[in-house]
Amino acid sequence: MKRTNQTSNYGFNFQNTYIKLDKRLFSSLNPVSVKKPSVALWNETLAKELGLEFPDGYKKDLAEIFSGNRLPEGSQPLAQAYAGHQFGHFTMLGDGRAILMGEHITPENKKFDIQFKGSGQTPYSRRGDGKATLYSMLREYLISEAMHHLGIPTSRSLAVVATGEEVIRETTHQGAVLTRVMTSHIRVGTFEYIRYLQPQLIEEFTRYVINRHFPDLAESENPALALFEKVMQLQIDLVVNWMRVGFIHGVMNTDNMSIPGETFDYGPCAFMNDYHSQKVFSSIDHYGRYAFGNQPSIAQWNLACFASTLLSQFDENEETATEMAKERLEEFEKQFSSKFVSMMCRKLGIDDPVSGDAELVEELLNLMQENKADYTNTFLGLENKGIPCLFDGSNIFEKEAFSGWLNKWENRVTQNGFTMEDAKKIMQKNNPAFIPRNHLVEEALEAASNKSDFNPFHKLHKILSDPYTRPREVSSYQLPPPGGDAGYQTFCGT
Ligand code: AMP
Ligand code: MG
Repeated sequence: MKRTNQTSNYGFNFQNTYIKLDKRLFSSLNPVSVKKPSVALWNETLAKELGLEFPDGYKKDLAEIFSGNRLPEGSQPLAQAYAGHQFGHFTMLGDGRAILMGEHITPENKKFDIQFKGSGQTPYSRRGDGKATLYSMLREYLISEAMHHLGIPTSRSLAVVATGEEVIRETTHQGAVLTRVMTSHIRVGTFEYIRYLQPQLIEEFTRYVINRHFPDLAESENPALALFEKVMQLQIDLVVNWMRVGFIHGVMNTDNMSIPGETFDYGPCAFMNDYHSQKVFSSIDHYGRYAFGNQPSIAQWNLACFASTLLSQFDENEETATEMAKERLEEFEKQFSSKFVSMMCRKLGIDDPVSGDAELVEELLNLMQENKADYTNTFLGLENKGIPCLFDGSNIFEKEAFSGWLNKWENRVTQNGFTMEDAKKIMQKNNPAFIPRNHLVEEALEAASNKSDFNPFHKLHKILSDPYTRPREVSSYQLPPPGGDAGYQTFCGT
């Protein structure tokens, strides 16, 4: 078969800039070849957005390319160096099991990193094997795509290719490579690495990041400070968005905090069923550092690490620079709580928060916590004053203390001629009907990775691609697991 120009490179359009930076910031190397690649998942919609095309007859090339066995034209593979504070402790890290293939330009002239995750050892692997299990790459695919459809900035997942090789963890697993697509993989930890090991490069790198991600800031009086303020805004918006849908990232180390403000590294993340501000699912988070309600203060902590890498650029006088950083960081709480209250108000159908609304929100959260009420379904219930079958055992709508709150809420909503119907419209845009319920995610992954049955995965993926449309009847995909999820645990980078 003769290939046309278009199909010869499948639309790959790399314009790589990271590789032109100082050589100490990365290591050039190719992904390790795999034995017997086969496509487990291919995201055709995302491929179209990226301008990638694999017409019939070329589909077999997908496995070869997205396993790393055959390099896409124009790719210049490298592993990025970075550091990070993991659970508060500073460590040298780097892409230990990922390779950045290059920076791809879409037909709409947007740039995305294309990264292979699970593609073998690199100079940063330390004692790791550089590999990933099919199970955990399917998990990242499902949850990152769900986050995207929930309207939350995130890395995307283009493909999962099973490698035909075994990966040894506690037991033997199938190996896989995930293709991760992201505005960039530059993180707070990248700045920390440079500040610690190559401080003479920090100014050049800051300029690079500003030009690549926030070119408007280049003109500001103090571009590094403007960058810091921008990253803080993006992080606040991101964490507020996480809390809107009950998402717990699980491992908010500074190496997992993206500068362009996208959610990434879906290791031990989970979605909350019954509301508790201190909810934790990660098996290694013994002290609840990354609990649901701690996410804002951890974002602030991470931002303090970020600020410390930029001090010399804020001002040449260290004291003045530190003062500037402190001032900005002190703004965090005020800005966060104002955006948080506005978001929670929208979940309640209120789009013009006034004083007293913060208390209304807090009272609701307390009632939900006391009654172990399902976070997602309580807000759905409010739209219709309770849908009993959405609740397993404890139906908050039957509690006396809750009816008092309901009256207050209705009175608040229906002020100034506003109707419940108006409120409903706001609520339907801000409260998902479907979230990736942990037990359903696990069921789908078990079937796919252990029995090669992808039906539950595809069904769940379809539901999660349209999370705001209310089903005509309550669907089993909306329910928490019978008996709750008290024993549910998640794990890091498997
Ligand atoms: P993560 O928990 O995914 O953010 O990873 C933390 C660090 O461990 C990063 O530097 C990863 O590249 C590295 N890492 C995780 N899993 C592996 C693995 N299987 N082999 C080598 N490095 C790994
Ligand atoms: Mg990471």
